[in-house]
Amino acid sequence: MDASVIREFTAVLGEENVLTEPTELRTYECDGLTGYRVTPPLVVLPDSAAEVAAAVAVCARHGIPFVARGAGTGLPGGALPVADGVVVSVQRLRRVIEVDPVNRRAVVEPGVTNREISRAAEPIDLYYAPDPSSQQVCTIGGNVAETSGGAHCLKYGFTVHHVLADGTITTLGADSPQQPGYDLLGAFIGSEGTLGVVTRVVVRLCSTARWKRSA
Ligand SMILES: Cc1cc2nc3c(=O)[nH]c(=O)nc-3n(C[C@H](O)[C@H](O)[C@H](O)COP(=O)(O)OP(=O)(O)OC[C@H]3O[C@@H](n4cnc5c(N)ncnc54)[C@H](O)[C@@H]3O)c2cc1C
Repeated sequence: MDASVIREFTAVLGEENVLTEPTELRTYECDGLTGYRVTPPLVVLPDSAAEVAAAVAVCARHGIPFVARGAGTGLPGGALPVADGVVVSVQRLRRVIEVDPVNRRAVVEPGVTNREISRAAEPIDLYYAPDPSSQQVCTIGGNVAETSGGAHCLKYGFTVHHVLADGTITTLGADSPQQPGYDLLGAFIGSEGTLGVVTRVVVRLCSTARWKRSA
């Protein structure tokens, strides 16, 4: 990749958050679909929504394709890099911003793992219901892109039924799951990262009371 373009990325993200070393880049060469591997020329590690937007803006300015990446556990190859593109990893966006017991919702950054959400809600007897078996490591950003789920989803629904809104740059959805107008949130969830990078997610939390009663 052109040195002047790399300088643009380092100017907005700092040198340590722009990976160019072949040994570091190999980490990102595939996701859970390990039969396909492409070592990307560049990986960027933004730490905020503003930095994600700035990195994507550099890509847009130069017509460079980019792929968002969470934990890289996806099985359809959605996080597979493009040979001349950039991987935008959200691994540093790992903050649980708020757990709201009254409205039963949590506001989290996309790099927070699925399990971490339930752990954060555990002290107030709530949990995040969608439970892919990769929940210890997969991120909520990846869950949104894949509309992931597990056994709880048979009763409580998939990711698409548990994300209330996202982002500070563009906000899709609102404070309640049912809204008038086009269901843009529904279109975004499950879009495999093709419609944008998730920078913040508001999820619905369920009560653990039933488990505790039957335990
Ligand atoms: C052992 C194992 C068990 C699994 N079990 C299940 C299961 O039970 N149920 C299930 O549904 N899945 C399961 N999966 C698949 C996978 O864990 C999920 O699809 C998970 O949601 C992927 O999350 P990730 O953070 O690893 O995303 P990644 O693999 O990094 O990315 C997946 C897709 O999401 C996009 N993406 C990632 N982050 C963002 C973002 N912030 N904004 C926009 N797009 C983004 C990527 O571009 C890519 O298209 C399993 C995988 C493994 C390896």
